[in-house]
Amino acid sequence: MNEIGQHIYFDGYSPVADMVVIAVCIVMVVLVSTSYVTKTKAYKIFLSIVFVLFLAALTDIIYHNAYVHAVNGVYTWVYIFRNLYHIFLFTIFLLYIYYIVTLQRLEKDKTVPVMIVSLGIFVGVVVTDIITTISGKGFRIDQNGVAITGMNVFMYGYMAFVCVVIFLMFEFRARLYRQVMNGFYGTMIVSFLVLLFQLRRGQTSLTVASFLFPVIAMLYLIHSNPYDIELGAVDSRALEDMIRYNYERKNDLVFMSLFLPDFNVEGRSISKEMSEVIRNFAANFFRGGVLFQINNGHVILIARKKANPDYENKINNIINAFYVEYEKFQFDYKIVMGESIEEISRKNEYISFIKSIHRRMEMNTIHLMEYEDVEEFNKFEYILSELGDIYRGRDLRDSRVLAYCQPVYNLKTGKYDTAEALMRLKLPDIGMVFPDQFIPLAEENGYIHVLTEIMLQKTCDEIKYLMKEGYEVNRISVNVSVLEMRDESFTEDFGKIIKDNGIPDEKIAIEITESQSENDFMVMKNMINDLKDNGIKFYLDDFGTGYSNMERIMELPFDIIKFDRSLVIASDHDPRSRKMVASLANMFDDLNYSVLYEGVETDSDEERCKSMSASYLQGYKYSRPIPIIELKKFFSKVGE
Ligand code: C2E
Ligand code: CA
Ligand code: CA
Repeated sequence: MNEIGQHIYFDGYSPVADMVVIAVCIVMVVLVSTSYVTKTKAYKIFLSIVFVLFLAALTDIIYHNAYVHAVNGVYTWVYIFRNLYHIFLFTIFLLYIYYIVTLQRLEKDKTVPVMIVSLGIFVGVVVTDIITTISGKGFRIDQNGVAITGMNVFMYGYMAFVCVVIFLMFEFRARLYRQVMNGFYGTMIVSFLVLLFQLRRGQTSLTVASFLFPVIAMLYLIHSNPYDIELGAVDSRALEDMIRYNYERKNDLVFMSLFLPDFNVEGRSISKEMSEVIRNFAANFFRGGVLFQINNGHVILIARKKANPDYENKINNIINAFYVEYEKFQFDYKIVMGESIEEISRKNEYISFIKSIHRRMEMNTIHLMEYEDVEEFNKFEYILSELGDIYRGRDLRDSRVLAYCQPVYNLKTGKYDTAEALMRLKLPDIGMVFPDQFIPLAEENGYIHVLTEIMLQKTCDEIKYLMKEGYEVNRISVNVSVLEMRDESFTEDFGKIIKDNGIPDEKIAIEITESQSENDFMVMKNMINDLKDNGIKFYLDDFGTGYSNMERIMELPFDIIKFDRSLVIASDHDPRSRKMVASLANMFDDLNYSVLYEGVETDSDEERCKSMSASYLQGYKYSRPIPIIELKKFFSKVGE
């Protein structure tokens, strides 16, 4: 028995495994600190576990060494370090349980009992371990230097903790993603097998190592944020964390954001060559810079200002280098850069902040972040929240949505008898808002359809009023976004509002712009055919601004083609352009479409348009957009 005891405790020990554990702990810390892992609570517990694991391995080595170096049969240090070693191992258990509980997000009324039980086990085992050692009932070394197991408190403690862990892992397994749980189960099985193996071989060297496997599972499954090898970027999840971390420590940051809209679509990603360029940029210009990938075509490089005191120079260098690369790749870009801004850091909203800047930027330009951008951003957030409120309220007479309109001159009748409804917002805090500031926002967030419905309602109200007062109203056109037509209920919603107002369908027209996508084209075609049956008229808006596909246009039964102001301007440049616009208009006219010129500002514009097959004219020359209730000033009464 004595023989065996000595054999197990000291002869069966080699420090190799503990040294490996120490090394692996250091490696793990290096890994997590270079890959911008989110510093969650679980991450902090994870780091504590690694630290205690390191201590456990170290004390294990020390305690065995203390035996070898014991003089005159005094083994006090062996006892002390052995107990300490056990304390560390049980601390790991305790932290491990706390970690699982945190990960599973157990409610307080479940967390508290689990932690109390675990703490109870911890205190109980540690105290008993110390008492049995001191009283000589537990592990001891006799006068001949032979180790005797005695009462194996450690084993009881170990078993108790394993029971708690197993209970947690099974009882609340549904709280975590199954694949992740499987990863943990797998590593736990490996740990048991290793312990079984060492028991059979009369070994003790692998005890600490067996604690390492679940920790490796944590690192791999939960606390890894790998780099995209080609690009050198980490996932954007870590970005908020980096900002919070530096904000709390009052570290100023430097930002560079590169947005390549061509790649910002599903299934397209930056080429290998370009990734290399971006990777080198990120690595070469800023000390300690971290590149975050926001999505396919958007990366943000962040570095600490302190580490880059000459960052303004660096920015210049990077821009010059960028132009060189741009010559090669020629992709559209938007670059935003600058220093961290208190307010945005506090709210941790750089991604939406930068996106709000993109909205106002021209393509292929560079923008330096400044305080005005924050004001614009706040305004933008405010508009968005009001839009959301309008959307949820779905009040067709919402007073924040203003119906403006622009009368259209009808050349055939020599009168104003049609108009285009144009939307404005009037918001409590900022007053009037124009379409370029809110239409894209409303479209992106799915609010546009309700806005159209409100515009349609207000247009119907005006038509009813004008008709009742005896005005001649041919029709008023309403702008509709291609996006909202994708919704199956569009035709029904639209038709219902007209019907509920009891006005003839032909008093309403819909303006739509041409769409690039084949799918939208089909959607549009079906919708036009549905609504056209009722008598609603259709205008093709902004003709001449996109890449017009004549074949498709001809396939859609438009009534009026609206020539964009750019064509009106072009027709004034040179005889060739004029001829082109004139013959396009002539062709539409021949095919029984009516041509409407938009943006007629001067007498000369008017003359030219008249000579180019115009049926309708619209523009500042006749009127700026006016509140829709003022339309009667332009319209004439029947028979006048
Ligand atoms: P759009 O449909 O092409 O509307 C014509 C725009 O040209 C209007 O700008 C109008 O004020 C402006 N305009 C009119 N005459 C002239 C002129 O002689 N010279 C110049 N330079 N501009 C002129 P607005 O009202 O700011 O609207 C801008 C765009 O916002 C509209 O372009 C349309 O695409 C969108 N929009 C406006 N109201 C609505 C709406 O109710 N629903 C939807 N989906 N979009 C709307
Ligand atoms: Ca329009
Ligand atoms: Ca237009």
